[in-house]
Amino acid sequence: MRLSSQHPELDTVWKTLEETKALPVIPIDQPAELSLDLLPFQKYGIGWMVQQEKLNDFKGGVLADEMGMGKTIQTIALLLSDKKKPNLVIAPTVALIQWKREIETHTNNALSVNLFHGASKLDDTESLEKYDVVLTTYSTMENSFRRQEFGSRRKGELIKEKSIIHKIHWHRIILDEAHNIKDRSCNTARAVFNLNSNFKWSLSGTPLQNRVGELYSLIRFMQADPFSYYFCTKCPCKSITWKFTDRRNCDECGHKPMDHLCWWNNEVLKPIQRDGHGDEGRVAMKKLRLLLDKMMLRRTKLECADDLGLPPRTVVVRRDMFNEEEEDVYKSLFTDSVRKFTTYVEQGSVLNNYANIFELLMKMRQSANHPDLITKKKDNSNNKQLVCMLCNEPPEDAIVAACKHVFCRECCVQYYQSFDYGDGIVKPNCPTCFATLSVDLSQPSLELPENERDGMYSKTSIVNRIDMSKWRSSTKIEALVEELTKLRRQDKTIKSIVFSQFVNFLDLVYWRLSRAGFECIRLDGSMSPRQRDAAINCFMTKPTVTVFLISLKAGGVALNLTEASRVFICDPWWNPAMDRIHRLGQHRPIKITRLIIENSIESRIVQLQEKKQALVESTIGNDNSALERLSVEDLRFLFVL
Ligand SMILES: [Zn+2]
Ligand SMILES: [Zn+2]
Ligand SMILES: [Zn+2]
Ligand SMILES: [Zn+2]
Repeated sequence: MRLSSQHPELDTVWKTLEETKALPVIPIDQPAELSLDLLPFQKYGIGWMVQQEKLNDFKGGVLADEMGMGKTIQTIALLLSDKKKPNLVIAPTVALIQWKREIETHTNNALSVNLFHGASKLDDTESLEKYDVVLTTYSTMENSFRRQEFGSRRKGELIKEKSIIHKIHWHRIILDEAHNIKDRSCNTARAVFNLNSNFKWSLSGTPLQNRVGELYSLIRFMQADPFSYYFCTKCPCKSITWKFTDRRNCDECGHKPMDHLCWWNNEVLKPIQRDGHGDEGRVAMKKLRLLLDKMMLRRTKLECADDLGLPPRTVVVRRDMFNEEEEDVYKSLFTDSVRKFTTYVEQGSVLNNYANIFELLMKMRQSANHPDLITKKKDNSNNKQLVCMLCNEPPEDAIVAACKHVFCRECCVQYYQSFDYGDGIVKPNCPTCFATLSVDLSQPSLELPENERDGMYSKTSIVNRIDMSKWRSSTKIEALVEELTKLRRQDKTIKSIVFSQFVNFLDLVYWRLSRAGFECIRLDGSMSPRQRDAAINCFMTKPTVTVFLISLKAGGVALNLTEASRVFICDPWWNPAMDRIHRLGQHRPIKITRLIIENSIESRIVQLQEKKQALVESTIGNDNSALERLSVEDLRFLFVL
């Protein structure tokens, strides 16, 4: 091995890792200041975190418990364990208020909290350092780093200002939803790598062991030595950053870029990518597992079910048939779609036409909810109001691609996931301009012009494009109305959440339910954190509000609704996302009803989902990414070929 002549210490890294026996974890006692009773597996988890900080070389780690197992509360208990400050928590915007609320309510104000976000941020380090916990978002942190590095223009003058969160030496840094930095070269990741602290923690609910490519960012964040370092093959040069200011020679040693190796790429990533199931790949997988054992803790709800004492959850499927008129519209759409798909199959060009196929699927799914979603869809030709190029709705949590087209972040994530085979061969195209779709999924969301509202509906809402006096409901909507009316007759206080992928559909549902006398509240991705907070509060505290309409794109992160006991999922997706409503703190039995139109693509999607679930359960580990993907075989199944 070329490296070992210059860096002999690297020879024994894996052997040492293998031979170092893990010490038994001592679960912590319930902290006096914590008002919430910790569950046994949580006490163990905190014990593990304390041990990582005291005894382990990694000075932190990854807490990767499945969603809904209290990663936040375990982290808060860790903060209480030594009370040194300041600590920095970086979270997605939607989770920020949740963090603040949980710290305040569960610690009896034992920890002081500052929200470093928005216009009224503190602007000196001394005041900020006085707080036990500073909460900020990925985009605020990235923004202030960008101003420091590249400056910002003010009256034509370029001003560089020090980022104060980068100036502070933190006691701990905690990354919530740490997959926000999974792309190591994105600006958010770079801004995170430049923060300073004694200890570093990542929280993530996704099973990382299946996403080798994304793990580097977390290892780099922890500055794990030697795993995240670059080594020169010609001299003892060793560096955590790639420093080639003149692009030709290493700033440290003067040797060429090609003389330098990233230890992680060399030892783990490349062998697995090159040769996943061969000998070389298997050796690398073993190394990866060794490393993860030392730095990551992941438990599933199934493993801890006894501790959790989860209330029963039942899922029922309500199946309805299209009425004649709907079926006519759907049939012609379906026939047309199958014809197009068959052509792609015959030409052998399925792989090149994912954008088109995705659009066909999207249309069929929308049409199963209400034909108006297709026939009254927004005319994009005079594109005054921005729409997402994937779902044709006003973009939620909007991001922009290199080709300048705009998408909902969630639409883009799903689009990528559906066609990502991990081999890097399939590069999806932009559905509009067919350029290779290149987009930084972790970019801060676009500042769109204020979404003008006309009462409860935005100016661009489908309700304002239809003559509602002549409007006809749909089978799907009437099924929902029937279910909710039945519930109301049983118990007027019962609260329901209604999920859909499509904001336009929720507009129609809102209109119809209001006329049936239901008081509804909306939550979608275009709302600010404070608006969301107000909506959630209103639903939880106001007895007359019984229905919460949530866009699935908005419900993704840290939504902790404990009040609802009924859930309706209006449109199925091949990746079951129901888990997000089944969280800790849910003390009432929950019943989930999925509304399916039997003679549409929806029944196929449900079958596909069941097939995939069975496949995943029969393999070891919990590879959720397989659920999200659509193989050519899956597509043939959906198009009934
Ligand atoms: Zn060198
Ligand atoms: Zn060098
Ligand atoms: Zn979209
Ligand atoms: Zn484009």
